[in-house]
Amino acid sequence: MDKTFEQAVLVLNCGSSSLKFAVVDPATGEQYLTGLAEALGLPEAEISWRFGSADKQKSPLASGADHTQALQFLEEVVFKGQEAMTQALVAVGHRVVHGGELFSQPELITDEVEAGIEKCIPFAPLHNPAHLLGIRAARRLFSHLPHVAIFDTAFHQTMPPASFMYAIPSKLYKEHGMRRYGAHGTSHYYVAGEAAKLLGKPAEEVNVITAHLGNGGSLCAVKGGKSIDTSMGITPLEGLMMGTRCGNVDPSLVFFMVDELGYSLDQVKDVLNKQSGLLGISGKTSDFRGITQGLEEGDEQCALAFDMFCYRLAKFIASYYVPLGRVDALVFTGGIGENSLVMRSKVLSLLAGFGYQEDAQANEAARFGQGGLITAEGSAKAFVIPTNEELVIARGAAAFAG
Ligand code: AMP
Repeated sequence: MDKTFEQAVLVLNCGSSSLKFAVVDPATGEQYLTGLAEALGLPEAEISWRFGSADKQKSPLASGADHTQALQFLEEVVFKGQEAMTQALVAVGHRVVHGGELFSQPELITDEVEAGIEKCIPFAPLHNPAHLLGIRAARRLFSHLPHVAIFDTAFHQTMPPASFMYAIPSKLYKEHGMRRYGAHGTSHYYVAGEAAKLLGKPAEEVNVITAHLGNGGSLCAVKGGKSIDTSMGITPLEGLMMGTRCGNVDPSLVFFMVDELGYSLDQVKDVLNKQSGLLGISGKTSDFRGITQGLEEGDEQCALAFDMFCYRLAKFIASYYVPLGRVDALVFTGGIGENSLVMRSKVLSLLAGFGYQEDAQANEAARFGQGGLITAEGSAKAFVIPTNEELVIARGAAAFAG
């Protein structure tokens, strides 16, 4: 029997050489289609996709294919024979990493909104230009649909000045926008909402600490459904120890590397963004699975990377008891948060003083897409909640459907 479709949103996430896409039902979250175009601009450009849980399909793209050509392939080849699905499309939702202070909610994309995204390029020099490429190509190709930008920073626009300001001369904020903006907003928003459901209360009455831990990682203090503090800063380098990013360091490290070691600023940028974190300490891998494997095999550097990751995370979580006062639950999400039971076990034990006690069986069960409460009866509550940024983007975009 042919599948029927109520409404569907095309969700696009454009990187500089990649384009991730999904067709999502904004009501149920069902993902009818997911896929990725990779190595754009290179000879080996290719695209892969899958309908629901069907087998993955793959095809090379023309050598050096760009975002426009990838979207053309999507429209002409992938969508072919999928009339029921494509006719259900009501909007296109674009993930945008940085909206600065200009955007605090989903925005219908107009030329002015594009100009605003362009204005925020200094804060996300790799991401925003790539988003614009995708947005411009998609607006041309799917001109009959409303296009909506969903910003990673938007959820954090409710942070008060005491948490978003840096203790640097205020004119640098007033004249140049130098402040903390945060990231992963759609994920923090989604899992905070799901945590409220699990607690059986409206989001407005719930205080949670959400830990999005993937290749990049950030924490958020969510009070009554609003972000009031987050660990990432003007860029996604601040805060937690990540796959290849250093997180919080003494900024004087920069002067030391430049003045004493003769590094160029580009080299410093590369060290702190791409050679640090789990990779820098382990000397082996930025992938948390590799770190935990090394830990099991007795690799000392992997063990140190693991300990540092958990210790710094637990300390940061503890600090959010200050803005929140009362914490109803801690939430783990993202690739590491959703899957690494050893990390969760360690972090909960480091937070024992705050009343957390792991339920080992429940912790073991909450993996590979399965969420749930992972703490014992009478303990402060910690949940694993698989994130769903595509759904937040689809819902934000569907709100603009004609
Ligand atoms: P993300 O950026 O959210 O896709 O998360 C990527 C991170 O999740 C990588 O560090 C992976 O090693 C980690 N990850 C994925 N699956 C597992 C797993 N089963 N156990 C531990 N870490 C995992």
